[in-house]
Amino acid sequence: MYQAYVPQQQQRIQQLALRLLLRKHLVAVQGAELDDRLRLRIAGMAVVPILELGLDWYDRWQTLILYDGPFVAEHSWEDEFGIVHQEVSERSGEAWERGPVVLSLEDVWHSGRGDGYNVVIHELAHTLDMRDASANGAPPLHAGMDAAAWQRDMQAAWDDLAQRAELGQPLPVDEYALEDPAEFFAVLSETFFEQPAPLREAWPKVYGHLVGFYRQDRLRQR
Ligand SMILES: [Zn+2]
Repeated sequence: MYQAYVPQQQQRIQQLALRLLLRKHLVAVQGAELDDRLRLRIAGMAVVPILELGLDWYDRWQTLILYDGPFVAEHSWEDEFGIVHQEVSERSGEAWERGPVVLSLEDVWHSGRGDGYNVVIHELAHTLDMRDASANGAPPLHAGMDAAAWQRDMQAAWDDLAQRAELGQPLPVDEYALEDPAEFFAVLSETFFEQPAPLREAWPKVYGHLVGFYRQDRLRQR
């Protein structure tokens, strides 16, 4: 439950969640069913990242589409020889620039259970990342934040994660983070809100940058 995030701020989360539900469309498709409780649960997780930033940070998307299970994403792309390839893959969520955010209800159900996994925060972190130009692993930083330090410390954490993964060591975040810099930021964001302590222990500087960006520190709110 989203109540687990920031116990002292439950009321603010709930109020912001209700405001989000007034502004955005939550649409269930392909047999998915949404009741008020589930809407509130999803909205409650959705507003956690922007609790101190404000709802305007989500003004690039209006609709959240919910599938029943994992959904099948179809992408076609043309290679250098002009051959069009169809790529079909199973996804738990997807976010596009200025497009709707797509989530699988099954994965929503597994989110926010305290094991670090949260597809709602993950996909919405992508939308924050995409606010400046493209999904490049860095959202627009606030005035006073050091972009060069952000870049440097993220890179160091990336290298460390890659090394740990290669050595088969325990990982502070899901290995999926190494997919690309955008996934790195999305997975870091999930972990930042779901399992902040091991993240801070592994990469204190990265943790500090995330505190600076999200303007929250769950480890201080306890
Ligand atoms: Zn992702």
